[in-house]
Amino acid sequence: MRAFWRHISAYVYVAPALVIFLLFFHCTGNPQSTEEFKYQREQMVKWQIEERGVTDKRVLDAMRKVERHLFVPSELAAYAYADQPLPVGYNQTISQPYIVAFMTEALKLNPGSKVLEIGTGSGYQAAVLGEICDSVFSVEIVSELGNKAKSLLKVLHYDNVFVKIGDGYKGWPEYAPFDAIIVTCAPTHVPEPLKEQLVEGGQMIIPVGETNYQQLILMIKKKGRLIQQAVLPVRFVPMVDKDKNKY
Ligand code: SAH
Repeated sequence: MRAFWRHISAYVYVAPALVIFLLFFHCTGNPQSTEEFKYQREQMVKWQIEERGVTDKRVLDAMRKVERHLFVPSELAAYAYADQPLPVGYNQTISQPYIVAFMTEALKLNPGSKVLEIGTGSGYQAAVLGEICDSVFSVEIVSELGNKAKSLLKVLHYDNVFVKIGDGYKGWPEYAPFDAIIVTCAPTHVPEPLKEQLVEGGQMIIPVGETNYQQLILMIKKKGRLIQQAVLPVRFVPMVDKDKNKY
């Protein structure tokens, strides 16, 4: 009988401890494994990107490879491969995966391309470009974001991606001309310095318009002139114009 009660009293202590442990585990969330994230990336590429018509193998491979969950705040890692943009702090967002793939494919990059990106943000788009091109020069106006992206890209060994804190309206003249330019924040007009820093025959993709509604414009420079075509309605964060740049 005494043994029976000893047995029961063990449960009295063990059961609440088990409940507390399970509750804690439930609240902190089941941390996902590298394999789980890899599976989610493959699903993302299949259903969000290929299904919508992106076919460039190098773009698809880069989207499969770059670990997007490392570029979002850790508390949002579980949503890293969802079909949506996510906040990255400072009122800025990491773009929806499909938009990253669409814009990258539109530039028709090759392994020798030198690319300028305006709006480093989390550094994710820059990493995708870094997988495909020779070199990536990325400009970010919010120093905290730019420095964080720079450190992460270094840790991940993206030695061909260079980040500068500065005003993207001015481009990065020291390394111009660029074979391609990708702008991931939205100005109301295409900044003149960016047009100048594009090589003859090069392509630029840029969302142009008002806050909350823009058209993604694809431009190609032919005989010094930019021929443009609207390719997709989009919604990017505005391009900050703190110096009231004239263009
Ligand atoms: N490409 C990013 C997402 C870009 S969000 C990624 O992959 O995560 C847009 C970014 O543009 C923000 O980080 C914002 O701070 C930056 N930005 C806005 N105006 C800018 C300007 N004038 N020059 C450079 N960056 C700018």
